[in-house]
Amino acid sequence: MSDKPDSNPAARWGEATRLVRGGTDRSPHGETAEALYLNSGFVYPDAETAAARFAGEAEGYVYARYGNPTVTMFEERLRLIEGAEACYATASGMAAVFGALACQVKAGDHVVASRALFGSCYQIITTILPRFGVDYTLVDGADLDQWARAFKPNTRCVFLETPSNPGLEVIDLAAVTEIAHGHGARVVVDNVFATPILQKPLAFGADIVVYSGTKHIDGQGRCLGGAVLSTRQFKEEELKPFLRHTGPALSPFNAWVLLKGLETLKLRVMAQCSAAERIARALAQAPGVERVLYPGLPSHPQHELAMRQMTAGGTLVSFFVTGGRERAFSMLRRLKLIDISNNLGDAKSLITHPASTTHRNIGEEARATMGITEGMLRLSVGLEEPEDLIQDLRAALSD
Ligand SMILES: *Cc1c(COP(=O)(O)O)cnc(C)c1O
Repeated sequence: MSDKPDSNPAARWGEATRLVRGGTDRSPHGETAEALYLNSGFVYPDAETAAARFAGEAEGYVYARYGNPTVTMFEERLRLIEGAEACYATASGMAAVFGALACQVKAGDHVVASRALFGSCYQIITTILPRFGVDYTLVDGADLDQWARAFKPNTRCVFLETPSNPGLEVIDLAAVTEIAHGHGARVVVDNVFATPILQKPLAFGADIVVYSGTKHIDGQGRCLGGAVLSTRQFKEEELKPFLRHTGPALSPFNAWVLLKGLETLKLRVMAQCSAAERIARALAQAPGVERVLYPGLPSHPQHELAMRQMTAGGTLVSFFVTGGRERAFSMLRRLKLIDISNNLGDAKSLITHPASTTHRNIGEEARATMGITEGMLRLSVGLEEPEDLIQDLRAALSD
């Protein structure tokens, strides 16, 4: 990151103000809420202007695959919240992950990644990029010795997720970044579980942050979206050429939904974190629960690190029931309030059985190395009354 202060006065606003007002670009009509520009093309006053915009010599939009005013407002708001120099919005979180990685690697390069990854991120690192000649090494994210040993002369970048899905493993961002930078490699952080409210990877030295806007940023189960945050130079020279020509542009309608989602992000995430902590404590006492994983509880193996890096423990709780898949499924069947869904970060509490859903494709062996057992369940805590959620879980676990 450059040391130059952000020239935008909004960069000096407090976080809550940036969440509500950052990036707003009112039209001459003076609308209160951000305008939704549902257009794919743009017109020019004359041919000279068109030529100048295509040459990059004049400001202005040319085509919605390249940019759209509603998408720009979302990018600018998220950029201000993250404290990054640049933001590029994408059609989904996976488009952000793939774009951030693929734009900077070529055949013969090597990538180091933490083993505990979201299923599709795991596929990109271990199946898709290798088809284009990009080699990889997976490490146990919490083991700094493994990180230190994984680098090769051709290592271009690091990809990691913290806390991870669904094991909620916490990785030391400052330490891994220092190791990576010592080898001339960039660090890409999937910050979906932490959200920009709880953790700012750039402050720990990371180079690139990716989000699935689908999760907490929308937070109400309505649309897909994603974003890559980086330096201006990375965006202009590497990311933008790749994404413009390959086409995973964010729909203006989705950008508008995500923009409105950002306004309430902090309120929602903080309420969900406080409910998640209560639920994690209740689950730890519940019959038939072997173990609870929640970064905000002292029983979590990296609790201290989590509290250094994050402002709260997060909105997800993972736990293990005795009796494997059979017991896990019967518990899911008995829930009356919490829905079975692999989505997360939603206002509605959602629960999933990772071994048979999100992490089914990676195979039993890879699941074992990530600690994903048949008795593991991942709960995304929503905005309902926490006591109602605890009652629902207790009733489903009893017997
Ligand atoms: C959901 C998710 C993604 C992918 O986001 P989509 O918007 O579904 O494409 C990436 N990483 C993590 C950690 C996720 O939870």
